[in-house]
Amino acid sequence: MYDIVNSRKPFRGFNTKAVQSGEIRDPRFGNVTTPIFQSSTFIFPNYSEDAYIDHTRQEPYIYTRWGNPTLQALEEKFADLENAGKALSFSSGMSAIVSSVLSTVRKGERILSVSELYGQTHSFFTDTLPGMGIAVDFVPMRKLNSLEIPEGDYRLLYTESITNPTLQVSDISALSKIAKERSIPLMVDSTFASPYNQKPLDLGADITVQSGTKYISGHSDVILGMMTTSSGMFSKIVEMRKTLGGTPDPLQGFLAMRGLKTLGLRMEKHNRNGMEIAGFLSQHKKVKEVFYPGLENSEFHELARRVLKGYGGMVSFEVDGGIEGARKFVKNLRIAEPAPSLGGVESLVTLPIDTSHSTVSAEVRREMGINDGLVRFSTGIEDSEDLIEDLGNALYSI
Ligand code: PLP
Repeated sequence: MYDIVNSRKPFRGFNTKAVQSGEIRDPRFGNVTTPIFQSSTFIFPNYSEDAYIDHTRQEPYIYTRWGNPTLQALEEKFADLENAGKALSFSSGMSAIVSSVLSTVRKGERILSVSELYGQTHSFFTDTLPGMGIAVDFVPMRKLNSLEIPEGDYRLLYTESITNPTLQVSDISALSKIAKERSIPLMVDSTFASPYNQKPLDLGADITVQSGTKYISGHSDVILGMMTTSSGMFSKIVEMRKTLGGTPDPLQGFLAMRGLKTLGLRMEKHNRNGMEIAGFLSQHKKVKEVFYPGLENSEFHELARRVLKGYGGMVSFEVDGGIEGARKFVKNLRIAEPAPSLGGVESLVTLPIDTSHSTVSAEVRREMGINDGLVRFSTGIEDSEDLIEDLGNALYSI
C-alpha cells in the first residue's frame, strides 16, 4: 500500500505546510489538488485492504456527516498549521463554538468567559446556555489578563485571542497557567489572529475554535468553522459534531483548503496594511480613538508583541459625530464595501452597533467599550495607498 496523503511528510515552514499538508494525491490519477468527494455515503462494509481511514473513527469512511476525505484533507492541513494533534471542520464558526463548548460542560456546571465576546457567542452564553442549566460568569479582558479571576468551581475558561470589535488581546500564556492549576480546559476563539499570527495551543491553550469564514478561507465565499486540540477532547467533539450535524459539505472544505494555501501570503499583506492604516488614522483629526494592538500607544501592544506574530488586518476606530458621522463616513467610502464579515481579500467595513453587536443591549455595549461612532474596518489586500486615500476622503466628508 502506498501513502497517498501528504500530511504524513514532515513539512516545516508555514507556507510549505499550507500548500502541501493534507493533500490527497493518488498516483493512479496523478491529481495535484485534492478532489471534492461529493458523496454523502460510502460503500459499507469496505473490505478493501487499502481503504482510506476516517481519522475521526479510525475506520473506513461511511457517511459524510461523520467524516469525508476532502474534509479530512482540510483538517490535516489545518492541524499542521496550528501545531495541533487534531483538527475538525464545521459548517460555521458558531457550529465549532457550540459543539466544542457543549462537549466540555454539562448541566449544573459553570463557565468563566471574557466579557468582550463576539455577539453571537455572547447570545449563546447568555440566552441559550442558562436554559440548559449551564451558567456563565463574565470577566473583562483587562481583569482576566491580570488574573483577577473569581474563585468558583468553573469547568471551562473561554476567551478570544483578539476581541471583536475593540481588538483587546488575551494573555493566553498567563491564562493557561491558571487553567492548568484548576485542571480545566482553556478554549480560545482565535478567528482574528488566524494560525499565521498565533498558534494558541503553543501558548498553552487546550482547544481553539475559529470562524473559517474569515482569514482561513479568505475570499468571502465560504461559511466554515474549525476546531483544533491536542487533548483527549477530540473524540467528544467529534461525537458532538455528529449529533448536532454541523459537518460542512465537501465543496466548503475544498474552497477552504484552496484559501489556506495563500493564508501566509495574505496575512503578511493584511498585517502590513493594518499597521499602515492604523498609523494613518491615529494621526487624523476626525478620528477620536484607534483600536489596533500594533500601535505603540495601545495598552495591549506589549502583550501583543509577545503573543502575536503580526497584528492583523482588523482596525477599529471611533469617528467624530457619533452614529450619524459613522454612517456618513461608510457611505462615502469607495473601495471598502459595507458588509458584516471580515478577513477576506477585499476591504469591508461595518458599524458594530448595526451588525455584530445589534443583539447586545446598549448598556452591555457600553461596558464592552463599543461607542456609537465605532467603525470596524477589515483591511483587505488592496494597495495601502489606495485604501488610505479613500479613508481620508470619506473622513473629510463627515
Ligand atoms: N468568532 C468570531 C470572533 C467572529 O467574528 C465570528 C463571526 O463573525 C464567529 C466566531 C462566528 O463565525 P461564523 O459566522 O463562521 O459562524
